[in-house]
Amino acid sequence: MTQVTLEAVHKTYDGGVQAIRGVDLEIGAGEFCVFLGPSGCGKSTLLRMVAGLESITAGDLHIGGIRMNDVPPAQRQVAMVFQNYALYPHMTLYENMAFGLRQARLDKREIERRVQDAAQILQIGHLLDRLPRALSGGQRQRVAIGRAIVRKPDVFLFDEPLSNLDAALRVHMRAEIARLHREFGHASAIYVTHDQTEAMALADKIVLLRSGQDMLDNGSVAQIGSP
Ligand code: ADP
Ligand code: ADP
Repeated sequence: MTQVTLEAVHKTYDGGVQAIRGVDLEIGAGEFCVFLGPSGCGKSTLLRMVAGLESITAGDLHIGGIRMNDVPPAQRQVAMVFQNYALYPHMTLYENMAFGLRQARLDKREIERRVQDAAQILQIGHLLDRLPRALSGGQRQRVAIGRAIVRKPDVFLFDEPLSNLDAALRVHMRAEIARLHREFGHASAIYVTHDQTEAMALADKIVLLRSGQDMLDNGSVAQIGSP
């Protein structure tokens, strides 16, 4: 089953930068897809369009068979993990993970169950009362991942999530992300990186991006791996 479909997707920023020029792409349910390419080639832009954080200039985005171009982020079955973690500094870890679920008006007991489960999986159960500033980079990244997990999304979106960690932790967290994705079964992942090793280690499918500015209309994307 196809989870995410992009058809002839374009993004032109105000000011005229053509970040994405005609991307066609299908990501299957359960598939781990990596967007790989040098800085500035449009990886983040493409990911943010799937998340709903950037408008789509032209083309179509479908998630779970439904056209999503104009659907607000909170109504998409996606959850994003950011490079800078994007935690709320004044909230405890528990509240950071619970916040989105409260917004979605989930039952209080269900929220507690999901947060505790995610905390257990990520081994941060003993830190739930702390504020983000009391944590190491690796612990913060776990919270950011936990905040995505508790939403039980159909699609996980990762924007260079390990770039701010040291080399050893990066390898460790990479393995954890791979394990979590396997455990989630049906959930797809789209993972942005400029690191080839990371891409090779994680991907079922790698989408190579080149700068949208330099591209011919149909030369935008090369795909390696499963169709
Ligand atoms: P990557 O994630 O591969 O580093 P980005 O998607 O961040 O690339 O950027 C792709 C291109 O779009 C770059 O030329 C970048 O300068 C430009 N760009 C990104 N965000 C904006 C923005 N908000 N306004 C204008 N141009 C932008
Ligand atoms: P309220 O203020 O409405 O009682 P809370 O946010 O204090 O709501 O708590 C909601 C639930 O989340 C409670 O059942 C509580 O046990 C749990 N909870 C809140 N903070 C933590 C935490 N730091 N660690 C573990 N559980 C927590």
